[in-house]
Amino acid sequence: MSNAVTFGPPASDPDALSGRLPDLRGMTRDALTRLMADLGEKPFRAKQLFSWIHRRGAVSFDEMTDLSKSLREKLSKVSRLVLMRLDLTQVSVDGTRKFRFQTEDGHFIEAVYMPETDRRTLCVSTQIGCPMGCAFCRTGTLGLTRSLMPGEILAQIYAVNRALGAEDGLDGRKPLTNLVFMGMGEPFLNFDNLLTALALLQDDAGLNFSRRHITVSTSGIVPNIRRFGELTENKLAVSLNASCDEQRNVLMPVNRRWPLSELMEACRRFPLRQGRRITFEYVMLSGVNDTLEDAARVAALIRGIEAKVNLIPYNESPELPFRSVPQEKAEAFRDFLLNKGILAVIRKNRGRDILAACGQLATKREGR
Ligand code: SAH
Ligand code: SF4
Repeated sequence: MSNAVTFGPPASDPDALSGRLPDLRGMTRDALTRLMADLGEKPFRAKQLFSWIHRRGAVSFDEMTDLSKSLREKLSKVSRLVLMRLDLTQVSVDGTRKFRFQTEDGHFIEAVYMPETDRRTLCVSTQIGCPMGCAFCRTGTLGLTRSLMPGEILAQIYAVNRALGAEDGLDGRKPLTNLVFMGMGEPFLNFDNLLTALALLQDDAGLNFSRRHITVSTSGIVPNIRRFGELTENKLAVSLNASCDEQRNVLMPVNRRWPLSELMEACRRFPLRQGRRITFEYVMLSGVNDTLEDAARVAALIRGIEAKVNLIPYNESPELPFRSVPQEKAEAFRDFLLNKGILAVIRKNRGRDILAACGQLATKREGR
């Protein structure tokens, strides 16, 4: 590689350790422009390359037919496009689809596609496994293998866009309208790579996603809630899941580091644009957090915050001791919040039959 090449992968990039060529998909537009300049190419070539990668979802240099063969060869000597092999697609009776990908180093991650009449949403993973250890979550039982690189986060979106576009005959137009970062992993523990991926998704030479159509969910990494508010204009979801510290300490170990007082303070200070709300996710667990006293404490916690509460039916798994709540009980909880003037909905539970619902993503390296 020429010494003149001045870009480099971020420190959290496993490529930096393995000596692999840097991944172009995870490079900012500026870095790509510098690379092209270092290769002696005109600036408009960088834009072409960017569009191939981010608008058309190219997975190889061979596809980039309007770049000269010699440029494609030069590129492949100094860089690569990180591979995410789409190895399995499963379709639920309700139309939800699970896409399973295999990383270059052999691990599996999953993304979930949820079509609705007015939007098409993809739920994206940010880590292989998750280190947060929430007691009720299957992904949490995996522990963390590693964080995904920006190019691996984006590859999920581009692959699904391509698959749907081919099906619908959309001819390269954007089939996905919304993204939620609620798949495997804690996005705010892969913060820099998350921000890089968001910037690339929102670039007008790429998919040009609008900021309000992207939501990131966190278990409550308080310092990064603040940074997220400062550095982006995307929507925030917070997994609350409990009405007091005693409960939350047991359900979500993160609460012992950042208790509810600090979490709610960060939410209260989170900059919200006109008409926006913070979404609070609340998984309903039978006999744990499902009483009207809990509902009253939740109402008190979020008082003064422009909020929406998403009550999530619990998806049971045989190896975990928690049970779901009967519909009437969830409705009583919701109605209590509504009567307090708090927007609350019981979320539809989608993709359960293919283990694609919340907290069910847990394919290990060896398969299930
Ligand atoms: N790690 C991030 C985002 C991924 S988890 C976070 O925790 O916010 C996405 C949501 O699924 C969280 O709100 C979590 O509380 C919820 N969840 C986890 N396990 C679940 C299960 N078994 N049933 C229903 N929801 C679950
Ligand atoms: Fe990780 Fe979110 Fe599951 Fe907790 S709920 S273990 S933070 S994926």
